[in-house]
Amino acid sequence: MATVAEKTLQFTHTPHPSPMPAEQRAQILSDPGFGTSFSDHMVMIEWDEERGWHDATIGPYRPLQIDPACAVLHYAQEIFEGLKAYRRADGEIALFRPEANAARFNASARRLAMPELPEEVFVESVRRLVSADRDWFPTLEGGSLYLRPFMFASEKFLGVRPSKQYKYLVIASPAGNYFKSGAPAVSIWVSQYTRAAPSGTGAAKCGGNYAASLVPQAEAIARGHDQVVFLDAEERKWVEELGGMNVYFVFDDGTLLTPTLTGTILPGITRDCLMTLARDEGLSVREERYSIEQWREDANSGRLVECFACGTAAVVTPVGRVEGPDLSFTIGSGGPGQLTGKLKERLVAIQRGTAPDPYGWVTKLD
Ligand SMILES: *Cc1c(COP(=O)(O)O)cnc(C)c1O
Repeated sequence: MATVAEKTLQFTHTPHPSPMPAEQRAQILSDPGFGTSFSDHMVMIEWDEERGWHDATIGPYRPLQIDPACAVLHYAQEIFEGLKAYRRADGEIALFRPEANAARFNASARRLAMPELPEEVFVESVRRLVSADRDWFPTLEGGSLYLRPFMFASEKFLGVRPSKQYKYLVIASPAGNYFKSGAPAVSIWVSQYTRAAPSGTGAAKCGGNYAASLVPQAEAIARGHDQVVFLDAEERKWVEELGGMNVYFVFDDGTLLTPTLTGTILPGITRDCLMTLARDEGLSVREERYSIEQWREDANSGRLVECFACGTAAVVTPVGRVEGPDLSFTIGSGGPGQLTGKLKERLVAIQRGTAPDPYGWVTKLD
C-alpha cells in the first residue's frame, strides 16, 4: 500500500543548464521519426525497502550510471508503458487516458514482483515532464510527444529474488508516423514462434516479452512482411496479437471481433477505446477466440471484410495480407478498409480535440 507521503511525493525540478538549441530542435521536430530523439528532461524516482518511493526528480536527460551487477541486466526485471501527449488545434496540451496506463503499469509491476507506484504519482510524473518539455511537440501533421515511463531493478545483486531497489523513469520522444513506409495496409507473417505462454507474462508490459519477439519479428521482415502475428502457445491455433499491437476483425454483417484477454494477450488501451467507440456506433463487438483456419476461411469467403491492428504508437493499422508457412491470403481488397478508417478517425479526433470527449479520456495539462 502506498503511504500518504508516497502519494504526495514532492518533485525537485532542475532545469537543463544547456537545453538543445532551438534551431536543432526545430529540425528534429519537423521530421522526428520514431524513438530516435529525446527531449531535454527526464523524471526519475527511487524506491527501496526502507523508504519506499523517494527522491522524485525532474532534471536534465542524461545517461545513467549502472553497476555491472545491476539486477535488471541479468534477470530482466523491467516493465514499461507507452502513451502520447498531443498539442491540440487550440494550442492546448492533452494526455490520453494516463490513469489507464498507470493502472496497467501497476498490474505489470505485480506480475514482475516490483513495487507499485501510486497512480497519482505516475500521472503527475508524466504531466510534469510534458510541461517541462512543452517545446518538444513535432510540428508535422499527426505528430505527438511519445512518453515512455519505465521501471527497472537497480539493486547490485546477482542472487535470484526480487530486487530491493528500483528506479522509475519517464523519458519523452517526439514522434511522427510509427510505420516508416507509411503503407496504407500492412502484410503480416504468422509466426511459428510463440510470444506468451499460459500463466506467463503475456499480459504484463515487460521488456522480456519484447526480447522474445525480436527473432520472430526479424523473420517477418526478412520474408518481406511488416509485422508478425502470434498464435497461442498451447494449441498453435488461436490468433493472439502482433508483437506490440492487438488485433480486430471486421465482418460483412458489420460485427467486430477481437481475441479474448486470456492472460497471454496484452490488454491494450487502444483496443479498449475502439471497443467503446464501435459499440457507440451501434456495432456489435465480440470478444472471442478466433482461429487461424477460420481467419483464412473467412478472408477467402469474403465474410471477413477488414482486419486491423491497434496500439498507441500507430493507433490503427490496416492488415491487408497474411502469410504463414502453409497459408497465404488477402483480406478484402488488400487495402485499408472503410470501418477501420472511420474508427481511427473517431479516436484520433478525440485525442486531438477536434471532436468532443464523451468518455472523459482526455486530460488537459493545465
Ligand atoms: C503496448 C502493447 C499493446 C498495445 O497497447 P496500447 O495500450 O493500445 O498501446 C499491444 N500488445 C502489446 C504486446 C503491447 O506491449
